[in-house]
Amino acid sequence: MRPSPTKIVCVGRNYADHARELGNEVPAAPLLFLKPPSAVIGDGEAIVLPEASSRVEFEAEIGVVIARRLRRATAEEAEGCIGGFVCLNDVTARDLQKSDGQWTRAKGFDTFCPVSPAVGGLDWRNLTVVARVNGQERQRGKSSDMVFSIPVLLAYISGVMTLEPGDLVATGTPAGVGPLSPGDIVEVEIPGVGILRNPVTRLIP
Ligand code: MG
Repeated sequence: MRPSPTKIVCVGRNYADHARELGNEVPAAPLLFLKPPSAVIGDGEAIVLPEASSRVEFEAEIGVVIARRLRRATAEEAEGCIGGFVCLNDVTARDLQKSDGQWTRAKGFDTFCPVSPAVGGLDWRNLTVVARVNGQERQRGKSSDMVFSIPVLLAYISGVMTLEPGDLVATGTPAGVGPLSPGDIVEVEIPGVGILRNPVTRLIP
């Protein structure tokens, strides 16, 4: 079943190598933004490239599913509220992200949040996320390389907004992001969670 989070909280620049590849500093505190729940699609559904953008990129990420309501939590409390992990693709219109000056449109188009089914019982310290386009590996990152760990991210977010059961947190992408074209197949794999596979199509008016 397709997840129905009340919100998808995303973290920018949480891997130093990715911050560098886009010419950004590593932030001193987690950099948060939102994707709308309407952007969620499941495994096998198409990512639709909008006419408004000429550069849509994949971002493979480790997604966290929240198990219980979390508000102003410590990292220790937050760790106990991890319900499972999903493969998540933070699809981004890179040109609009730059030209708009904020990220709502660039990150928020319909189909811009492919998500796999959730799997529980994994250690947040020891996850790997891989992106492939047309079978070729493009990204590989480890949760141990994150600037801010998953419990620290959840605690920080919960100090801003209450996290509800089923909410998703996208924990940032490693280096290697790149553009998608119609006909591509993009995969996000987290060993132990599975493979999220989505074809890419152009919007047909
Ligand atoms: Mg991202």
